[in-house]
Amino acid sequence: MGKLLIVGTVAFDAIETPFGKTDKILGGAATFIGLAASQFKTSSAIVSVVGDDFPGEYLDLFTKRNIDISGIDIVEGGKTFFWSGKYHNDLNSRDTLSTELNVLANFNPIVPENFRDASVVMLGNLHPNIQKEVIDQMVKRPKLIVMDTMNYWMNHSWDELVEVIKKVDVLTINDEEARQLTNEYSLVRAASEILKMGPRYVVIKKGEHGALLFHEGHIFFAPALPLEEVFDPTGAGDTFAGGFVGYLAETQNVSFNNLRNAVIHGANLASFCVEKFGTERLEELKKQELNRRLHQFRELTQFDIELQ
Ligand code: AMP
Repeated sequence: MGKLLIVGTVAFDAIETPFGKTDKILGGAATFIGLAASQFKTSSAIVSVVGDDFPGEYLDLFTKRNIDISGIDIVEGGKTFFWSGKYHNDLNSRDTLSTELNVLANFNPIVPENFRDASVVMLGNLHPNIQKEVIDQMVKRPKLIVMDTMNYWMNHSWDELVEVIKKVDVLTINDEEARQLTNEYSLVRAASEILKMGPRYVVIKKGEHGALLFHEGHIFFAPALPLEEVFDPTGAGDTFAGGFVGYLAETQNVSFNNLRNAVIHGANLASFCVEKFGTERLEELKKQELNRRLHQFRELTQFDIELQ
């Protein structure tokens, strides 16, 4: 069983979609990644920071899923990272209404001793300097370092971001961000520019239009499962990343073929995340439901044309 180390935000989110609005609920990149990855046989830990306003019951949620939380720093008198966003009618785009870094602004991540040899490291979306500090604390080069980021860090910490991208094996990024990062409109061109920046693999997430995996001139496509009802896409990208790394940590195989399977597992998990607000659907998700949907994924993409 492989060890998976996750760094990212553990947060409060306030979300507005065409179907409703929430007050502060549990959110954060590491939260979605951890909950998704916990569906696989891995031993995982989260490195993050929260304020003392963060409810203990949320932390219990991680512990109940065997996620090590000794790397989550609780800052006395501090306020937890807060993000709020509003989705447009098509649910594929959103506006960030506010990002309050709070305790994240002065965060020094400490990787728990027993996770410094983790085989898979997931650098969830947060300040690139924090992502780099986590890499620096590893005692041996992990089998796979996966990094996620977003436009916020491109706008605020460009140079630091480029430095971290150089050090990772896989970059997961959404389509608009891939365009912003490379100044290329074509996603194929954008991916090949990103591959020149350091990573061996690039995953470009396209929301309800699926995800593309690029590697040395090869492209693999995973659809998003067409769903009757999409309620709240928040965290779908992180949930995708959680399914992706969870599967890779369980299987310990980082070949292109296995990364293709990992992309499908990521898309499978993300398809559940969007069905309810925040983490609600992931919290109640059963392995049988995941397995059932994997069949649907296969049916959706299989065809039987005789090739000449
Ligand atoms: P996603 O919908 O997958 O892009 O992820 C949404 C999650 O990312 C929310 O739960 C937020 O708390 C978190 N988030 C939003 N902005 C940032 C940011 N600048 N840095 C880190 N995490 C963020």
